Amino acid sequence: MSRQIQGIGASRGIAIGRAHRLAPSELEIRQYPIDRKDVLHEVARLNNAFSLVRAELDALRNEVAPEAPQEVGAFLDLHRLILDDALLSDAPRDLVRTRLINAEWALSIQIEEVCKQFEAIDDEYFASRTQDVRQVADRVLKALAGGRAATASVTRPADGEKLILVAQDLAPADMLLLRERTGAQLAGFVTELGGPTSHTAILARSLALPAVLGATGAREAVQEGDLVIIDADRGLIVVGPDAAELAEYRQRAKAEVDARAELRKLKGKIARTRDGIAIELLANIEAPADAREALEAGADGIGLFRTEYLFMNRDRLPDEDEQYEAYAKVARSMKGKPVVIRTLDVGADKVLNDAARQSLGLARGAPTAESNPALGLRAIRYCLAYPELFLTQLRAILRASSVGSVRILVPMLAHVHEIDQALAFVARAREQLRERKHKFDARAPVGGMIEVPAAALSLPAFLQRLKFLSIGTNDLIQYTLAIDRADAAVAHLYDHLHPAVLQLISRTIRAGEKARTPVSVCGAMAGELELTELLLGMGLRQFSMHPSQILGVKQRVLETSRRSAMQLAARVLKQSDPLQIRKALERAARASARRAA
Ligand code: PEP
Ligand code: MG
Repeated sequence: MSRQIQGIGASRGIAIGRAHRLAPSELEIRQYPIDRKDVLHEVARLNNAFSLVRAELDALRNEVAPEAPQEVGAFLDLHRLILDDALLSDAPRDLVRTRLINAEWALSIQIEEVCKQFEAIDDEYFASRTQDVRQVADRVLKALAGGRAATASVTRPADGEKLILVAQDLAPADMLLLRERTGAQLAGFVTELGGPTSHTAILARSLALPAVLGATGAREAVQEGDLVIIDADRGLIVVGPDAAELAEYRQRAKAEVDARAELRKLKGKIARTRDGIAIELLANIEAPADAREALEAGADGIGLFRTEYLFMNRDRLPDEDEQYEAYAKVARSMKGKPVVIRTLDVGADKVLNDAARQSLGLARGAPTAESNPALGLRAIRYCLAYPELFLTQLRAILRASSVGSVRILVPMLAHVHEIDQALAFVARAREQLRERKHKFDARAPVGGMIEVPAAALSLPAFLQRLKFLSIGTNDLIQYTLAIDRADAAVAHLYDHLHPAVLQLISRTIRAGEKARTPVSVCGAMAGELELTELLLGMGLRQFSMHPSQILGVKQRVLETSRRSAMQLAARVLKQSDPLQIRKALERAARASARRAA
């Protein structure tokens, strides 16, 4: 029977291949005291190991192909800098001399020291670079242990066979080496460590390698030579798939490759329906670095920047300047295209570290787990509960409006008084910036998310106060159908075609149209190809989705006419049976494919 392991999809796509398990990056580090007469010998071992790694990194740097993504060279340069830093190279020699310990022991003490120093710097970039320090130090430890890098055991697999690497962690430099050794046969990789912002993840995306990181238990579940499927789109690996799973994934992989090549041709095309209605296709991003992918996909702007990821996994929250840098970076890189920055949506499944919560003045003894977090202190409720947190973020977003076309989006509004309070906070943030003589665009529009049924049923009051609306279908479904979106036990009830959900979406789009207020959809429904025609027919003109979905949706838009879309929407909105709705959508998709052919 196959086994599935959930991790984090670091890139996109599907890979099928035989597993090769890489030796764990943590080596058995031999630690022993030495005699004074052995000091020179141990120092010489350290010098040799550093020289070996230096030569290895230099060789890799020289072999970087000119057409390789820019990051490839940058990673190697960074690792070379770390290697040459006196903190890593000189200090262990002193430790050998003063403490009379062997080279490995001295180096491992120093690694911990350097990592501690990096982690203490109040900067996420430095904190996350500890992984790079460990990866460089790992290479030196391997050299000390006899020089066989983890990558040395990988040989080019038999012709036609694809290779999936399974490791505890994989340094960017190792990944490059492995790719060079295995050529096009390297299909993807799985690691137990690492997150979506690690260098390894960035490199996987640049090299377009399907990868799942943070797959805890992968090395235990996967044996050498096992057949493994990586589904990077879902952050999933399937170990030992059965014939049906294999056939399904093979088909999906082939379809993806063919479709991607076709879609790339659409990048420069304007998204217009067959009868000439222009549609804006925007990108959802989670980190400033994602803006590049959005631009590469030809996005018309950023429709949703989920800022909470800047606040998570850290003990000290980002201050105004750090936030400003992140928002301004996106605004600048989008070169005047709109950038919708959503205010902090923490709570429910997106929790801040305990230390960060304490720093906000969380009442001592307050329960860390709420009884019903999805209905608890989340998003705007959280921000209103912690005014300084909210004001700091608003000031940072407003400052970024001086370098691009920035819009502020407030999540999870349900009450009119929440809108009024949020707007009052924006006004206060503007005043503070004026007092502090910071530049900002006083007209930066403030919009609200429609993701609670109460909001979709209070549209006149929302439209009076807000400059634009964005429908968060993920939560709108959750709150309309009373299904915790993080609870697997009720996942089968999560239905985006439930008539109640469709009615609320349609009402919101129509009300926006009447009031001449822009309405977008930024939940997952915007990127679902089966729903493009229906949403167009409801009158939607702005779709915001993961960058990888943009060209697919563009293709659907180009194939669809407003007339047929409106007819479909009218039919669907009359239906009370989701099954019939599904059938109507399938019929429409077949008709659209016939028209396109
Ligand atoms: C949504 O709820 O649809 C949405 C876009 O917000 P998130 O997924 O971040 O909750
Ligand atoms: Mg939401």
